[in-house]
Amino acid sequence: MGVGSDRIGIAVIGGTGFERILESRETVLIGTPFGIPPPIILGDVGGRRVAFLPRHGLEHSLPPHRVNYRANIWALKSLGVERIISTNAVGAINPDYRPGDIAIPADLIDFTKGRKYTFFDGAPVIHIDVTTPFCPELSSLLLEESRKRAPAVRSGSVMAVTEGPRFETPAEIRMLRALGADLVGMTASPEAFLARELGICYCPLCFVSNMAAGMQERVTAEEVLKVAERLRPIIDSIIRGAIASIPSERKCRCATPAGGP
Ligand SMILES: [Zn+2]
Repeated sequence: MGVGSDRIGIAVIGGTGFERILESRETVLIGTPFGIPPPIILGDVGGRRVAFLPRHGLEHSLPPHRVNYRANIWALKSLGVERIISTNAVGAINPDYRPGDIAIPADLIDFTKGRKYTFFDGAPVIHIDVTTPFCPELSSLLLEESRKRAPAVRSGSVMAVTEGPRFETPAEIRMLRALGADLVGMTASPEAFLARELGICYCPLCFVSNMAAGMQERVTAEEVLKVAERLRPIIDSIIRGAIASIPSERKCRCATPAGGP
């Protein structure tokens, strides 16, 4: 693993169940200096080797604030992964957005508060550039594939990330709106930043599962699951299309996050 044609160049991080689109599946457990991530499923999508990491575990037992983000990203890096597409159920803060919309965000505001945020914990002190927090190459690909398949697609969205596992309060949502957020989720930080630290391209594919607190009567986990179920075939097809059209060479600058060649 990790060399030659068997190299796993592409990974999907998402909700349990995505493995159904992988052909000739095998499950691997990978140890890392940061602990053991959930079982990773390897397989083929349209002839390309892909790793799928169920973010919340195969039994969906890990809440967003307990996900071992460093172990997850490290394990994918050790497989040779250079690109990560992540799927995210998000709440809409922008009143023009609707449940069922697909969104490819362009920026992120981090309101998480108790996570392990970095691999660069000691010397030398390294500050990575996150002027474009999500890979521009992956995001334009995802946008193109989404527009072919989904009825409503939002681009350039600003995503707020909260600690969870509770949903936000109406006052928090008003604050996030005033700060320019269109969407709110619970996992893109530190996922995006850890991927960037290791030079991996990362882009979320978001789907709006509900209007955020204060914009509808109440927010329930059942509703989030219901929308996820309804959108599942569209999301699978967008990811399949994106995987097929990812060029083998990267032209973005994600591989050198702290500068250099
Ligand atoms: Zn990139």
